[in-house]
Order: sequence, then C-alpha cells, then structure tokens
Amino acid sequence: MTKVNAVLGPISVDELGQTLIHEHLVLSYTGWECDALAPPYDREAAITACVDALKGAKAYGMKTLVDATANDMGRDVELQKAVSERLSINIICATGMYTERQGKTGYLKFRSPMFDIITEVYETFMKEITQGIGDTGVKAGVIKVATGRGQISRYEENILKAAARAQKETGIPIITHTQAGTMGPEQADLLISEGADPKRIVIGHIGGNANLQYHISVLEKGVYIAFDRLGIDSLFPDTLRKACIIGLVGIGYADRIMLSQDYAPYWTGRSPEMPDSEKKLIVNWSYVHVFKNIIPALKEAGISDEKINTMMAENPRRLFTRQ
Ligand SMILES: [Zn+2]
Repeated sequence: MTKVNAVLGPISVDELGQTLIHEHLVLSYTGWECDALAPPYDREAAITACVDALKGAKAYGMKTLVDATANDMGRDVELQKAVSERLSINIICATGMYTERQGKTGYLKFRSPMFDIITEVYETFMKEITQGIGDTGVKAGVIKVATGRGQISRYEENILKAAARAQKETGIPIITHTQAGTMGPEQADLLISEGADPKRIVIGHIGGNANLQYHISVLEKGVYIAFDRLGIDSLFPDTLRKACIIGLVGIGYADRIMLSQDYAPYWTGRSPEMPDSEKKLIVNWSYVHVFKNIIPALKEAGISDEKINTMMAENPRRLFTRQ
C-alpha cells in the first residue's frame, strides 16, 4: 500500500479521504521583511488563525489539506505540524519554488551562470522528499511549481525540469500554479517531456478563465486539473467556474477534476485587509466554500454524490497512489 508523506508521518492513501488539494496556511510574499511597519511573524497567532479557519471544513468532512506553499513563500513546517495535531487532520506539505516574478529568485540567479541549477534544485527537492525539511524530520508530500502569465521563463523552466526529475524518481505528485489560466498545456508538455507521469500532475488555477477549449486541451495531456481558487471572484467569477465544472463533469471528466480554494488565513506583513471594492468579491473565500456553497450548487445542477466523491476523495487518492 502506498504511503503518503504527511507532516506527522507517513499515512496510507486510504486515510486521505476528502482532500483540499491546493490551500495555504501562512502566506508570505517576498520582501515583507523589508516593510518597517510590518508586525513580526507570530507563529502562535498563525496556528490559532489556521485552526479556527479549518474547523468548519473539518466539520464538513475534510480529512486532508495539501499546503501548496513553496519554499520561498513562507512555508512553516512547525506550524503545519501543530495545526495537524490540534485538529487531527492530515496536512501534506510541499517542496517547491514559486514564480520568477514573485518568488525568491536572487540566490539561484546569482548561481545560475556558474552552476547546474536544475541539478541543485532537484537535489533540494530530493532532500526534502526523502530525508526531510531542515532538521524537522517532516518529508514533503508534493512538489509545487509555478509559471507566470503567458510565458514560462527560463528560470521557471529550470524549476519545472528539476521537479520532473524528482517526480520520476520518487513518484511524488506535482501541483502547479498557472497565472490567469495560461500556460497549462505548456506546463504539462514540459513536465511530461522531462519524464514526469501525467497521472501524478495537477495543473492548478485552471479556473482563471472559462475557456472550455483551453481546459480540454490541458485534460488531453492526461493530467488532473484543479478548480482551486473557488471563492476568489476578484480574479474570475465563480459563476463561470461553476459552469465549467458542470460542463466538464457532464462530458465525463469527473475523474480528472479537483476542487479547492487557495485560501490562507494568515498573511505576513501589514494587514491584508482589502478595500471594500475588492472585499465584496471575496466574501465567500474560505476553507468551507467548496463544501458549503459549491458542492450544493453542483448537486443542484444534477451532479451525483458519487461524482462529488470522485472529485473530493477518489482523485486525490489516485493521484497519491504509486504502483
Ligand atoms: Zn496557492
């Protein structure tokens, strides 16, 4: 039986249950430390915020959360462990790197003219998957990669190549960030051409547009797709995301779709409190939105309980199952 690296130790794929495939706990954009008026990171406050925010989703039956926070976006393994312990839910943590535009790129850019960056990043991924992150003993359960809007930069291409190599050796799934619903097919092609298994890839943020032709062109690569920003109407309207999910499930793709929210209850830096115009577009954004609003809407549209279970539990279980 396949074991999955969760933050409190290996678990069986059968223990995953209903899974949110792309969420965050703490989110930390590069450079927040340079803001003289930003309060310091308070791990205890962050743990409390995460536990409070997750209780509702647990009550709806969520068993597992994948924290898609890359190494350069404020990933906090000690916090992940504490939240997992306090709530008795599984948390799977990522090794990975964010986009060139918003990640921590300086170090790799400094080294790249002189050294084999793909190998160095691959070694980081392998160390964190097979030995653990720092000295925490926690092993990464997924690899997170990301690309920018409308193009995959050379920097991002190197990260994707390193991820494909690490995936080929370990079987660990790759989950991706796409920007504004672009570059999904290109991500899949690049990862697969470098040896990654399409059945272990989730192309993320697919609901950044309502272009079914685009969605199907990604699905045709044999990968999973994730409508994983449900509730963020400021980026794209949920109404159209729902229409796409209903349409794609209607033509037989329930076994390749996952649902999540890309939510984060604690952000480093100054308060992320948004202006009213933005705020009214994210009123539903939380860990419970999929369970409380999206699933009932899908059922109303005629999607069966069985297909909902396929998207929420069966697909994650298959994604993490290694032959
Ligand atoms: Zn995310």
